[in-house]
Amino acid sequence: MKKSKFDFFSIRFKSWLYFIIFTVLIVSLIWFLQMFFIDHYYEEMKVKETQSTAQMLKTKYYANPDTFETEAISVAIKNDIFIRLDTEKTSFVYTPNNGGSSYYSYYTQLYRAKETLRASKLKTISTIIEDDSTGSKLLVYASYMTPNSPRNDDNILFVIAPLYPVASTISILRVQLFYITIISAILALILALYLSQKISIPINNITNSAVDLSKGNYNVKFEGGHFTELDALAKALNKASYEMQKTDFYQKDMIANVSHDLKTPLTMIRSYAELVQDISGNNPKKRNEHLQVIIDETNHLNSIVSDMLAMSRMQANTVTMNKVDFDLVEAANTVLATYHILAEQDCYTIEFNSPKSVYVNGDVSKIKQVMSNLITNAIKYCGEDKVIIVNIKRVGRRVRFDVIDHGAGIPEDELTHVWERYYKTSVNHARNAEGTGLGLSIVKGILTIHNAHYGVESKEGSGSNFWFELETVKAPSTKTL
Ligand code: ADP
Repeated sequence: MKKSKFDFFSIRFKSWLYFIIFTVLIVSLIWFLQMFFIDHYYEEMKVKETQSTAQMLKTKYYANPDTFETEAISVAIKNDIFIRLDTEKTSFVYTPNNGGSSYYSYYTQLYRAKETLRASKLKTISTIIEDDSTGSKLLVYASYMTPNSPRNDDNILFVIAPLYPVASTISILRVQLFYITIISAILALILALYLSQKISIPINNITNSAVDLSKGNYNVKFEGGHFTELDALAKALNKASYEMQKTDFYQKDMIANVSHDLKTPLTMIRSYAELVQDISGNNPKKRNEHLQVIIDETNHLNSIVSDMLAMSRMQANTVTMNKVDFDLVEAANTVLATYHILAEQDCYTIEFNSPKSVYVNGDVSKIKQVMSNLITNAIKYCGEDKVIIVNIKRVGRRVRFDVIDHGAGIPEDELTHVWERYYKTSVNHARNAEGTGLGLSIVKGILTIHNAHYGVESKEGSGSNFWFELETVKAPSTKTL
């Protein structure tokens, strides 16, 4: 890794960049709005405000002319405005003491406003004019008090609001904004650095752990942190590394076993072939005995190689299915027939209970392989009683196949693992050496593509029951098996 070079594509740099862009955009927007719109905005606001104040004053007057004066004074003081109301009954005037326009200049404006109102067809006018004496701007509002009756020059409400020069306010704001810009740029920088650090540190840790893992160090621990997504990533990677470790372990174990398994029968075959060649060739009894050993060992080799082949096909997803409707009982009978000699020779008892026939849909040879694997296991791991029970029975619209033995069983915490590739339980050590640990994962693979239910019930010390269930189909009119 080139650590010394600055990386423009790093999370750190990019998040910093985006933060800065964001800050610049926001601040520029504020600057822009202030530069171009604040004058206009201020005047517009003032006009609206004055109009609504005037409207309010009118309403108040109509509601109660007697209390108008006190209320108008408080409104005028609060808003710093000049108010004058002329009606037939009242003449009220309030001049603010704001150091701006004089009483006289207000009167000049009143006069002008009255003229404008008269000339206009409107009942209300509001104009912005420049005060000759002070040079400042004033908002002059004038409205007839009797909106529904003819215009009457003696009934007018005047409101004059000074428009303070915004330039000074703006320059204050600008200075403020300048500081805000600098502060927010610094804050954005700190925040971006802090955030990117928070994101990039755990990602770097995960990357380092992944590099370690790729070197074969399965003890690495992926650590997330700060973010749910990173925690989830770390968790997923920990699981993946655990699975890799497990597969690696089982695979190594299997290679050791398989090479041992292949070596032993090969040595036996070679030795016995030599025996036949050199010694027992002319002694039919001895020769047959020796040849039987060769045949047995070849069969053993064959089953190991078949298991591995079936597994690799399953893994490569190249299993071809030849699904037909067939009688499960008949298939089971065919499989069991292959165990009869063994049962007789080694005194095994294989009990078989089933209805006359139950039809299912599936690949016959594959389902036979499942049954065969389960029965072989039951024989391999059965108890001293050497009893294996095979049951087929209908369960609703399904048929259940059980293989029961009274052997050492499987510890509870290992029950789910027996279906994994290369897995061998911690009990049955002596017998385990004979197998590849692939039988049950082949069973699982086949049953899964058949959408079958399957499982194992086992109690350590008292035996196991491996089972699967398939959906039944109607018996066909012609037999397919
Ligand atoms: P193997 O070729 O080793 O038998 P399997 O995949 O068929 O591989 O079985 C996996 C492991 O499950 C076996 O090594 C054994 O420890 C355990 N097992 C399978 N069947 C039985 C059984 N009927 N009773 C006890 N343990 C069993």
